Amino acid sequence: MTNFLYKNDLPDDLDLGPMVAIDCETMGLNPHRDRLCLVQMSSGDGHAHMIQIAPGQTEAPNLCKMLADPKVLKLFHYGRFDIAAMFNAFGTLAEPVYCTKIASKLVRTYTDRHGLKNLLDQLIKVDISKHQQMSDWGARDLSKAQLDYAASDVLYLHKLRDRLNEMLVREGRMALAQSCYDFLPTRALLDLEGWPDVDIFSH
Ligand code: MN
Repeated sequence: MTNFLYKNDLPDDLDLGPMVAIDCETMGLNPHRDRLCLVQMSSGDGHAHMIQIAPGQTEAPNLCKMLADPKVLKLFHYGRFDIAAMFNAFGTLAEPVYCTKIASKLVRTYTDRHGLKNLLDQLIKVDISKHQQMSDWGARDLSKAQLDYAASDVLYLHKLRDRLNEMLVREGRMALAQSCYDFLPTRALLDLEGWPDVDIFSH
């Protein structure tokens, strides 16, 4: 497993294939206040490609081309946050998408533990550390521990999706899950536009 680290954007000639796992690290949970610092990606081959985003940066053409490419499925865990963070930073909406947290909520109805660490542990027997989760992602020089942690958030999403899809088929909820993924980019936009805590479907 190798970590590739880039400044500001993906390299021109890098093709990550038809299904790209993506995760973001930011300065915090408020997208209007807290800037995007790192975007991690994997094609599912065991390697991680990470882009360090500069303060004030508003463009990343190669990344955005992939985000908007209808032939590339973007794979997230809690994509609602990452989709909003990247739209807020670059004005590009990721589509089409898949979210392992939504899939988990639709099939693992026997638990309320849908965090990535728990899913990887329970479904594919991978143990990831969350020790760096609350570290300073705005640092100019990210530590090896930070980069290894950041990479672990995307390295196993393809395998996790396979497992969750088996369960979705078994429980007859594949179509429902797909409808949720289709709506997810809109849900992220609602967060940014001022409806973060409102269920627009409630009475
Ligand atoms: Mn992460």
